[in-house]
Amino acid sequence: MSDADTPGVSRADAAVALVRVSRWIDAGNAHRDPEAVTWGRLAKISEEHGEVIEAFIGATAQNPRKGLTHSMADVEAELLDVAVTALGAIEHLRGHDGQALAMLDEVIVRLEQRAAEANGRALP
Ligand SMILES: [Mg+2]
Repeated sequence: MSDADTPGVSRADAAVALVRVSRWIDAGNAHRDPEAVTWGRLAKISEEHGEVIEAFIGATAQNPRKGLTHSMADVEAELLDVAVTALGAIEHLRGHDGQALAMLDEVIVRLEQRAAEANGRALP
């Protein structure tokens, strides 16, 4: 297991699972116009983002009529839904080449490098 792996889940297994789920979503929409399928994949990210906000509102009881309806764990789960939906959309766009998670790793490392440059030294 590499440092990037979660106990019990290898990065390679996660990449394969992401491709399988993305292909399954596309297969379920194969009767639609291809551009409409892509629009649907992208719009789903916004839907999941809305669920993050709904969960946070519920976790902080901001709606007096509804009260406490969610937990911060729900907020985290919805944030991960956003991430996986975006990664699945990348797989969709790239023809399911299985590279979305590796691309994310590169973006994260580049982000840290840019932040360190802006910070004037390595981040603590
Ligand atoms: Mg969700």
